[in-house]
Parts: sequence; structure tokens; C-alpha cells
Amino acid sequence: MCGTSPPFTLSTVTESFLNISSYPFVGSIIYWGLIRFALVLVGAWILYAYVPQYSDWWTLFFVSISVVVIYPAQLAWRKHLAEVRQAARNGLCATCRYYLADETLCSKLDEHVQAEYTPCGGEGWDPLPINLN
Ligand code: SF4
Repeated sequence: MCGTSPPFTLSTVTESFLNISSYPFVGSIIYWGLIRFALVLVGAWILYAYVPQYSDWWTLFFVSISVVVIYPAQLAWRKHLAEVRQAARNGLCATCRYYLADETLCSKLDEHVQAEYTPCGGEGWDPLPINLN
């Protein structure tokens, strides 16, 4: 073996659950969480006939919800917060009245802001009002 394959870790497994390009969008975190929840429901429904103990089925169901739905959503949320912090480093947008920090969104152009990407290129910048009181 040449040993070029990446090591098998918990993070590589969880990364495969996540759509990396979706971190800036809270809606996509919720969307993919609902998709995974629906898949767990279908899987639990199929397994229901094959698990003899009803309590075991519930245990399996809640473990599946935790591992397949909640844990990846939690990881995606953490990455989203990291993206928000990164986007706040875009000094132009961070001082603009159109910037929505929680969504990392330019409300004027309805585009997501990134640390190295200013959607308007600086032409739409409108400074935040300064409170001198
Ligand atoms: S108008 Fe321009 S500077 Fe202001 S938030 Fe949007 S992209 Fe950033």
C-alpha cells in the first residue's frame, strides 16, 4: 500500500454528511437537517419489523437522530458561525449600513459577503451612521 489515502477519523465521516458550500446559509442547515431526519424516519420505519424489542427500536431511533441529524447540524452551525466571523473581517462591508452581520448578507444586493469578496466592489458602500452622543 502506498498510504496516500486520508486517515479514517470521525471528522472525515461527519464532513461527508455536510454540504460544505452551504455553511453561510442557515436555511440550508435546516433543510439538510430535515432531509436527514426524513431519511432516519424511513430507515426506522423499515427496521421496525426487524427489531424484536420495541425499546431497542426506540433506542436505535434516538441514537440515529443524534448521530445522523443533530451532530452534523451542530457541526454545520459551528462552521456557519466561523464563516460569519470571517466575513466580519471584510472591513468595507462591516462598516456599511446594508450589511446584515448575522446572515453575512449584503441586503442591498442580496448576496453573501466573504472576507475577501465585496459583492458591490465598493460602489454601493454607504457608511453606518456615527453616533457622537
Ligand atoms: S453595499 Fe457593498 S459595501 Fe455595503 S454591504 Fe453590500 S457589498 Fe458590502
